[in-house]
Amino acid sequence: CGIVGYAGGREAEPILVGGLRRLEYRGYDSAGLATITGPGDVHLRRRSGRLATLVDHLRERPAPGCVGISHTRWATHGPATDANAHPHLSSCGRVAVVHNGVIENYDSLKRHLQADGVEFHSDTDTEVIAHLLGRHFDGDLLEAVRRTLPLLKGTYGLAAVSPDDPQTVVGARLGSPLVLGVGAGEHFLASDPGALVGYTSDVVYLQDHQMCRITADDWDIFDRELSKVTASVHQVEWAE
Ligand code: GLU
Repeated sequence: CGIVGYAGGREAEPILVGGLRRLEYRGYDSAGLATITGPGDVHLRRRSGRLATLVDHLRERPAPGCVGISHTRWATHGPATDANAHPHLSSCGRVAVVHNGVIENYDSLKRHLQADGVEFHSDTDTEVIAHLLGRHFDGDLLEAVRRTLPLLKGTYGLAAVSPDDPQTVVGARLGSPLVLGVGAGEHFLASDPGALVGYTSDVVYLQDHQMCRITADDWDIFDRELSKVTASVHQVEWAE
């Protein structure tokens, strides 16, 4: 339902939660986030129920790091439980992903992955994306996303991070909106520009079949062959 991503010089957690708060009015049943502190370190926090429940959990177990993704889920596949809340992790926690939309062929993808020995920990369609990203990941998260997207049938707005590509957040969309927010020394992703109020008003709207990569210092939009796309930055005017 709602997606926020951050890469910059500030602690990601309050920004990831603050962005979700601005999307709360859209409705959701669970919330979660993942942050990265460096090679091998991903911090996953998820709770079914209100965003306030996740915030209570974060008070006990803060998620450190300046790179991360967050999500409010509106369940389509699997009940609203902690285990079904996003982000979802690939095996060994190499990649974490949040997803809006529906993966129509998740059942056959899941059976193939299970036959290959992959263990699933949720009932969601989204978890297949996490495992496919993990399989296609060899140090470059953008490349892993490029290799995974052609296998998916359905709709997605998604954002992914990896503790083994720790500066980067990658996004992609097909049939579900995603915007990139441009700041000074920090960049954002969101499913709706409204999530970015107070952080930046400079946004780039992704088109279907486009991917993007943000780091603290840089942003880029790519087509499905990974050629860079020239995209224009729009100024959002927030209502008073
Ligand atoms: N289909 C996914 C799920 O059920 C994502 C739902 C959403 O868009 O929030 O977990």
